[in-house]
Amino acid sequence: MSVQTDKLEAAHRAVVTAAHVTRLVQRRLDDFRSLLKPDDSPVSVADFAAQAVVAHCLRERLGPIAMVGEESAGELQAMLAAGDSAVPNQVLDAVRTVWPNASMDTMLEAIDVGKDEPPDATAPYWTLDPIDGTKGFLRGQQYAISLAWIEGAQVTIGALGCPNMALDQAQPLDKVDAAGSIYMATVDGPVLEGACAPDSQLHTMRRPAHNPAAGICTTASVEKGHSNQGATAQVLAWIAQHVPPEHGGVADPVRIDSQAKYAVVARGQADAYLRFPVKKGYVEKIWDHAAGAIVALRAGVRVTDVDGAELDFSCGSTLARNRGIVCAPPEVHERIMEAIAALRPGQPVSG
Ligand code: AMP
Ligand code: MG
Repeated sequence: MSVQTDKLEAAHRAVVTAAHVTRLVQRRLDDFRSLLKPDDSPVSVADFAAQAVVAHCLRERLGPIAMVGEESAGELQAMLAAGDSAVPNQVLDAVRTVWPNASMDTMLEAIDVGKDEPPDATAPYWTLDPIDGTKGFLRGQQYAISLAWIEGAQVTIGALGCPNMALDQAQPLDKVDAAGSIYMATVDGPVLEGACAPDSQLHTMRRPAHNPAAGICTTASVEKGHSNQGATAQVLAWIAQHVPPEHGGVADPVRIDSQAKYAVVARGQADAYLRFPVKKGYVEKIWDHAAGAIVALRAGVRVTDVDGAELDFSCGSTLARNRGIVCAPPEVHERIMEAIAALRPGQPVSG
């Protein structure tokens, strides 16, 4: 078995195992809400648990790993030091559903595997968002478990688990699907997709070519604070004015939380994922894009920032040299870049 296959399989297992845990927590959000102090978000239980489980699964299969995750064990350790073990115990209970002999210490140590900073440019590492789309998770909607392998500042493996998003595109995106879906990509192979479950079969994903006559359908964040909805509307209005009427219309964005948006474009369900910056100076985090971006790229979709630059994973834990995201099949991407050039949203577009 090649090193790449070994990592791909380990990543698949880690994500689907973590999905089992996050589903349990999401089904019982009200219990967690009532158990926690008002300032303790119940999502933190699932975040910590999923990070521990992913680190544990990867190490079980691959040995010692370097990982840059969104979470670290510091908050849980501080609670324990203050004699407050309610939340740490909830995290441990959740973790033990898939890692039965975990102790508080081994669990905290596993979470902290992900507190690394990216090593120097030559050393490869994993990056993890244990729950991407936290707000969607809390609303009982879409979220993603996003794991990627970065080598020489390039994403070479992505495992994007969407535990609530049906593989079947006929199923509504705003409903929870029990099986969910997972998208696996490597730098030199096709995208594989399957149910987000340990025993599911993975199949090669085939993105249908963009059909210009069907118009342009886009996807963007639910959260107003995460992407500039005014800029998106302006760009789409410009495209609507400039495409011949026989090419169908330009619909309002379908709003979905998390990197599930990359999967929705990769599988041809939407023609673009647009993420215009809201706040000047906000830098995107690598774990919010690494897995989604490689899934989209390997499906033949272009992934750049709003200035048309490739995403640059050589700046540590952020995409410090990029602003926002434009993810679309080449012909649609070109239209969007024309609109951006005409509107100059870098100045920035108001909205
Ligand atoms: P989404 O589900 O597309 O709304 O994106 C969720 C991600 O947005 C989270 O994982 C955050 O890291 C990220 N985020 C938080 N604040 C901002 C911001 N001001 N601009 C862009 N992304 C943000
Ligand atoms: Mg995130």
